[in-house]
Amino acid sequence: MIAGIDLGTTHSLVGLMESGFPVLIADSEGRRLTPSAVWFPKGGEPVVGWAALEQKATQPALVVTSIKRLIGRRPGEVSEASTGSAIEAGADGSLRVVVGGQALRPEEISALILSKLKSDLEKSCGVPVDRAVITVPAYFNDAQRAATKRAGELAGFTVERILSEPTAAALAYGLDRLGERSKVAVYDLGGGTFDISVLELNCGVFEVLSTNGDTALGGDDLDTALAKFWNIFLIDAEKIKRALTDSESFEWDGRTFLRSELEAICLPLIERTRRHCLRSLSDAHLETSALDAVVLVGGATRMPVVRKFVAEIFGREPDVSQHPDEAVALGATIQAGILEGGLQNLTLLDVTPLSLGIETFGGLMNVIIPRNTTIPCKAGEMFTNAVANQSAMSITVLQGEREMARDNWPLGRMDVTFPQAPKGQARVGVQFELDANGILHVLARDTSTGLDTLIDIQSAVEVSDEAVEKMLGDSLEHAFEDMDERIFTEAKLKADEMLPAVDTALNALGDEVPGEVRAAIFALVEKIRSALQTRSTSDLKNLLRELDAVTEPLAAALIEKTLG
Ligand code: ADP
Ligand code: MG
Repeated sequence: MIAGIDLGTTHSLVGLMESGFPVLIADSEGRRLTPSAVWFPKGGEPVVGWAALEQKATQPALVVTSIKRLIGRRPGEVSEASTGSAIEAGADGSLRVVVGGQALRPEEISALILSKLKSDLEKSCGVPVDRAVITVPAYFNDAQRAATKRAGELAGFTVERILSEPTAAALAYGLDRLGERSKVAVYDLGGGTFDISVLELNCGVFEVLSTNGDTALGGDDLDTALAKFWNIFLIDAEKIKRALTDSESFEWDGRTFLRSELEAICLPLIERTRRHCLRSLSDAHLETSALDAVVLVGGATRMPVVRKFVAEIFGREPDVSQHPDEAVALGATIQAGILEGGLQNLTLLDVTPLSLGIETFGGLMNVIIPRNTTIPCKAGEMFTNAVANQSAMSITVLQGEREMARDNWPLGRMDVTFPQAPKGQARVGVQFELDANGILHVLARDTSTGLDTLIDIQSAVEVSDEAVEKMLGDSLEHAFEDMDERIFTEAKLKADEMLPAVDTALNALGDEVPGEVRAAIFALVEKIRSALQTRSTSDLKNLLRELDAVTEPLAAALIEKTLG
């Protein structure tokens, strides 16, 4: 049996297929949601769930919440404010959470939550369950997915699949309700993250057409804004927020809180989800009218203001038949059922949130797997040496949408050696394989020896998740400059190659080149040098074209001469 687990920022849930149906596990008090909170009592064993959350108010330093905001991150990428926990860099530079006199890795804390879910599950079904499907936000990068997988393993699970949350939600929604080629948008506003995905059901297979989001936006941020505005504690702000979901006003601590006031405070934050929705639709090449359903997921989507907002953006009423807190866990459980072999006709396809590639000559980004490619996938390209007698090549793996390598994020670097070869003669094949868990395996092969070099990319993206968001914005904002720089760089590389070659040809041919041709070539070369100086891209391209035409007879003469 395989467990389906929604490892949430604020709440986690676990389910199992029973007699062909996905069933979520409740605790002894009938609650299916387990707070993703861990309490480290002095001198005792860690406690997970409601009992831990209860200690938060009185012993905040001993209770860790929102650990999902830290998993797979590096110390410089996150602030203590994002979780309220003390963090430091361990001896190996990795992030540690300091709690109860210990310095723990985020995945060790997530593992405690998963262990609790595992034991609740085993208690409920009476047999050991040691395989699991675990969900993550669509925006999680390699490092965050890999760390989540390690958390599962630390808890004693074999992690069969890391699944994107919106994909899981669509799966829970769509099994029995969608017709062939239906398109669904999943809007997930949880405690700590926002995800929007557009999926298509095609021949019984869900395909993610696009995904977008903000991993630093959720119900927690609404609480922070409300607490600040009303000058009250966070915990109270959350309580009042929930109450105002069901009624227009709420009396508390001698004060009256109004839904209209809450909506005015929250709307600017909710408004931030708009451009992600629009981007996701345009990435999927869809108009809102082409959607068959808009599904709401995540506790914060219970708020009337969020529902109104989603209806406005998508021009239709969102579907509210799903239990927003349970859809993801239900989908994970259904995926577990598929992997068990019980539900054979459905497999899931996911997509890459950002492009993956390597740095090439001139500092350009060479995309190998474009953004929004369905995974698992494999792609490769052949590269050669830029310099004669080179015997090694350094390959930098990049993630991002910008044209220049320096504007993207380095994921890893590998050195490939090969026998010395003249310029352009070495052949190194680079292959990217993105597995079903979204983890990247990079292989470089020297085709002359067949020797392979592999790298482990799991060492993290050196940037924060907020930056993923920024990357997409920047790539739009700088689209024209970026493109111009790419075209200039490509032209410059061509000039770097042509100028010495023309020189060589003129020397070799000597007097055979008529004086006026020689003068025309020199004049062009001068102009090219100055276009390189002034970085005038279109001049440079035109001049290179002219030089090409003028020197063509030279090249022919040179070949003739060589052949004798
Ligand atoms: P996650 O997937 O990040 O763990 P959930 O889907 O459990 O998050 O959503 C948690 C968020 O939903 C919290 O910010 C919580 O305050 C909010 N939430 C839950 N129920 C309600 C409600 N009735 N009204 C408003 N917000 C709610
Ligand atoms: Mg969630």
